[in-house]
Amino acid sequence: MTQSITILGATGSIGRSTLDVVSRYPERFSVHAVAGGSRVEPLVDVCLSARPKRAVIADASKVVELEQALCTVGLGDIEVLGGPEAVSRLADDPDTDVVVQAVVGAAGVAPTFAAARAGKRLLLANKESVVCGGRLLMETVRNSGCELLPVDSEHNAIFQCLAGATEKARAGARIVLTASGGPFRGRTNLEGITPEQAVAHPKWSMGRKISVDSASLMNKGLEVIEARWLFGVDAGRIDVVIHPGSVVHSMVQFRDGAVKAQIGTPDMHLPIQYALTYPKRVPGVVPELDFAALKVLTFDVADDETFRCLAACKKAIKKGGLGPCAANGANEEAVKLFLEDKIGFLDIGRLVEAVVDSDSFGGEYTLSDVYECDRMAREFVRAHL
Ligand code: NDP
Ligand code: MG
Repeated sequence: MTQSITILGATGSIGRSTLDVVSRYPERFSVHAVAGGSRVEPLVDVCLSARPKRAVIADASKVVELEQALCTVGLGDIEVLGGPEAVSRLADDPDTDVVVQAVVGAAGVAPTFAAARAGKRLLLANKESVVCGGRLLMETVRNSGCELLPVDSEHNAIFQCLAGATEKARAGARIVLTASGGPFRGRTNLEGITPEQAVAHPKWSMGRKISVDSASLMNKGLEVIEARWLFGVDAGRIDVVIHPGSVVHSMVQFRDGAVKAQIGTPDMHLPIQYALTYPKRVPGVVPELDFAALKVLTFDVADDETFRCLAACKKAIKKGGLGPCAANGANEEAVKLFLEDKIGFLDIGRLVEAVVDSDSFGGEYTLSDVYECDRMAREFVRAHL
């Protein structure tokens, strides 16, 4: 049976790779709806290749432009909607079975929760929504029967490593998250780094925000938090190791000492396809790994003395409650300012750490507390430049 898919963040790096996989299996998938942020031209391109019934643009001021552009290319029959609420409404549309959530940043919180509440099969790339409201999200997922499949390569790997493990085996396991180390691996002085240097990732081709996060190791800090919630593992049982080859996507060490690793070519098509076809496996779209060419796999410790974002995320987890949400909001604002050349690379870590240190953050929270905390963290950054 064909699955009806909605792709949020369809114009981005993950969205495009998803469309690529989907287009190779027309008998399995049809694209029901797509959503983008504010760029009209790439969204029209997506519509031309995916032919969805609906297209949403989060920036409502672009609706007319999008409608006109779609008419010009003969796609005037696509229903066009605008605004952030319309993105969330797509996530719980009864005409869709699968939601691929690939919006970047905390803007993804509302659509992630909408898809979770609706009990969809949710293919989640937007790690920021897990970081901001992890406890609440996992509660929602349990209550609605939503099937959450991680797309983030490390979490997709861990998901594969844990397949078949009993509750008890899972509870006693340690998670080992691998990190490429980014473009500044091995450096102990991060002064003077430019946005162009920071977005030039040696192994992965990704959106600009996550590329900067990878360079600062904020991405790995966010992923520790993401793993904590997705797999219900205490953060003390999650380790980070630097693995420059990016071939081992992550590992699980069981209490008998056995380690399961998921290994493969570093290409996001792979985890996306696995999540799309789970529990089946279909022929891959990426080249198979050549072990003879690979020869060695190397590992190293992660330097959180130099990469303060990673240290700040660890502190945020210890604080609990909305600590991770504040770290995430501060990081998003700081990365935006860094990409606009308004602050230095080292300021990102300084600001994220400062926001985490500024409050105790503990305790229960609601979804509106998440939005408020995100807003306050961004304000904190702007006030402490
Ligand atoms: P991109 O920047 O390439 O794409 C982001 C997408 O989100 C675009 O479609 C963009 O639209 C859309 N968008 C931006 N703002 C909004 C908004 N306010 N409301 C709705 N949509 C919005 O990011 P990536 O594809 O790299 O990353 C997407 C998510 O996946 C992130 O959370 C990232 O951490 C995660 N991820 C990415 C990986 C990767 O390899 N790229 C790997 C693992 C996880 P527009 O084009 O109009 O701006
Ligand atoms: Mg990742």
